[in-house]
Amino acid sequence: MADLDIVGVSKKFGHTAAVSDLNINIASGEFVVILGPSGAGKTTTLRLVAGLESPDTGQVLIDGRDVTRTAPALRDVTFVFQQYSLYPHLNVYDNLAFPLRSPLRKNSEDMVKTRVLEVARMLRMEDKLQSPATKLSGGQMQRVAIGRALVRNPAVYLMDEPLSSLDAKLRNDLRLELKRIQQDTNATMLYVTHDQVEALTLATRIGVLDHGQLVQLGTPKQVYQDPSSVSVASRLGSPRINLLPREALPRLDLPDVVKTIGVRAEHMQIQLDATLASAHAVARVARIERLSDQFLVHLRLRDLGGREHALIVSAHPGHLAQPGQDVAIQILQSLSFDARDQRVRH
Ligand code: ATP
Repeated sequence: MADLDIVGVSKKFGHTAAVSDLNINIASGEFVVILGPSGAGKTTTLRLVAGLESPDTGQVLIDGRDVTRTAPALRDVTFVFQQYSLYPHLNVYDNLAFPLRSPLRKNSEDMVKTRVLEVARMLRMEDKLQSPATKLSGGQMQRVAIGRALVRNPAVYLMDEPLSSLDAKLRNDLRLELKRIQQDTNATMLYVTHDQVEALTLATRIGVLDHGQLVQLGTPKQVYQDPSSVSVASRLGSPRINLLPREALPRLDLPDVVKTIGVRAEHMQIQLDATLASAHAVARVARIERLSDQFLVHLRLRDLGGREHALIVSAHPGHLAQPGQDVAIQILQSLSFDARDQRVRH
């Protein structure tokens, strides 16, 4: 395992800046997840580290060694793609053994066998070793694809949305397994996804990428609790953070520079007495949504100009009102943003 340093890396395609001045230092054994929407520059970032693209400026260092101009095969990284790429004519054993049998590596068949069995055990696929690749389910195929990366024990693993083509149940199972495998092997991982649940559950640190720029890098807790902008705040959290113009909450005492207020559903309380003097706002219940372990109350809040704003509050059963009823809202915690949607700390 090794450190990975991405230093001031930029890459343009024509006029499109796919990645702009990217700086990330990943310590050996860290699991860094780059989170961003489609087109943010996630795949380009991985391709730059793998050597499948060369940067216009900047450097890539693996364990302190500058590999910016080194050929992909000599970088000691492996890439797992969204779509599993197995050899269909080979069984699971031979698919897993393939990267170890490269003439460059000169591994003995005994060594190959030991490693394949070790990885098959890790992936819980020992009983499938003789199955042809074509007889596997989607989840099993992707597991083998991940296994093919694991057998080589490279310096750095690069993973490009490896779970996104699987159904929800398999995605959850494999996500847990991937986390376990990473912890067991202490692998250095750079993993990209647009799925916030993957980012929050897998990452030791999350990097939020937006239009090729790394807008925030921190632990899942830091990025969730202390987002640097509206775009980061809206990327993490389900339901999405409530964003209201300042005029919608005139009773909050905030500096003039604040234009938007962000309040997460769990940071508000509903009081059934709408006349409560200490309330921050009064809103009308639109509907109540029941999730497995909580209720989400959808509200309509009218600002002083008469415009309506939607609001979602997470509530306990004792605080549920009826649709059409007015309730008082108390804000326990909020985030402030300026006219450019950047965070204001006060
Ligand atoms: P997705 O989740 O859709 O794969 P992404 O975050 O991985 O998105 P990239 O694939 O890295 O984003 O693309 C970033 C930007 O660079 C996009 O605007 C994309 O159209 C552009 N781009 C990427 N590769 C090329 C290329 N080879 N030629 C031209 N433009 C490209």
